[in-house]
Amino acid sequence: MECDKCGRDAVMHAAYSGAHLCEDHLCASVEKRVRRRIREDNMLPRDATPDNPQTWVIGLSGGKDSVVLTQILDDTFGRDPRIELVALTIHEGIEGYRDKSVDACVELASDLDIHHELVTYEDEFGVQMDDVVEKDPENMAACAYCGVFRRDLLERFADELGADKLLTGHNLDDEAQTALMNFFEGDLKQVAKHYDASIGDFEKRRDAGEFIPRAKPLRDVPEKEVALYAHLKDLPAHITECPHSSEAYRAEVQQLLLKLEENHPGTRHSIMAGYEELAEITAREYRGDGKADLNDCERCGSKTAGDVCRKCRLIESIEAV
Ligand code: SF4
Ligand SMILES: [Zn+2]
Ligand SMILES: [Zn+2]
Repeated sequence: MECDKCGRDAVMHAAYSGAHLCEDHLCASVEKRVRRRIREDNMLPRDATPDNPQTWVIGLSGGKDSVVLTQILDDTFGRDPRIELVALTIHEGIEGYRDKSVDACVELASDLDIHHELVTYEDEFGVQMDDVVEKDPENMAACAYCGVFRRDLLERFADELGADKLLTGHNLDDEAQTALMNFFEGDLKQVAKHYDASIGDFEKRRDAGEFIPRAKPLRDVPEKEVALYAHLKDLPAHITECPHSSEAYRAEVQQLLLKLEENHPGTRHSIMAGYEELAEITAREYRGDGKADLNDCERCGSKTAGDVCRKCRLIESIEAV
């Protein structure tokens, strides 16, 4: 097959659009979609200037998604004085998994010469995920602990780094899975939250208040194309599964979606087009409920609805074992 644009050998065929693209045109197309998303989400506010720059903290895990996001952001904004890019990596303490992806993060940040902050569960909480899984005092899936710890550190360190926005590498497949899971669980409040927290146009979202707003500039690009981009550009991405991965329901939805996409190309795109519109309407509807009153956690000071936050409670129960 030949590239539709230049006639050279195509490296991929996108069934959802019918396009055949060569290496250069695929990479250009991925970059174009990321830039368009940044523009359409109004991520860069008009009042950002070299004297008043925006700080964008990128959650860099070392997997292909966040590595590709970091590379494209650096290519696009690396010399733009209105934006400062910082990479933030969280080490959960998972042997044989995170060590290698941390190496990928260090290599990329040094290649691109961007400030890189590495934070570990061990230093911050005195725990490692490998031990947490062993002890499992709450009888929960590994990801249920890990997600609470990661959110806490991302939020806290993004704040310390002066983040105006926290950018993550979620791709089209990830977001379409989340959209379907929210539907299947019948959770419209979650849909509304999803919009305000991480997928909406910044001019239409509710102010995130105490929290740092998130953005997902890769969310128009299918996972396979992100992987191909990382490979073609020879980026230092680390691709293995976490040994404690336990998101069984997401995996089921992922299989369903892949099957649907195979039989009906374009399904992921149409899910997201409809979902984003609906999420915006839902967000407007639920904002009337008012914000929950948040207190400072008695132990760590982070925002919580009660007296002690969930992370501090989990750490307490792990330490008690
Ligand atoms: S798969 Fe689960 S346990 Fe592994 S790093 Fe991700 S959230 Fe943590
Ligand atoms: Zn071409
Ligand atoms: Zn706390």
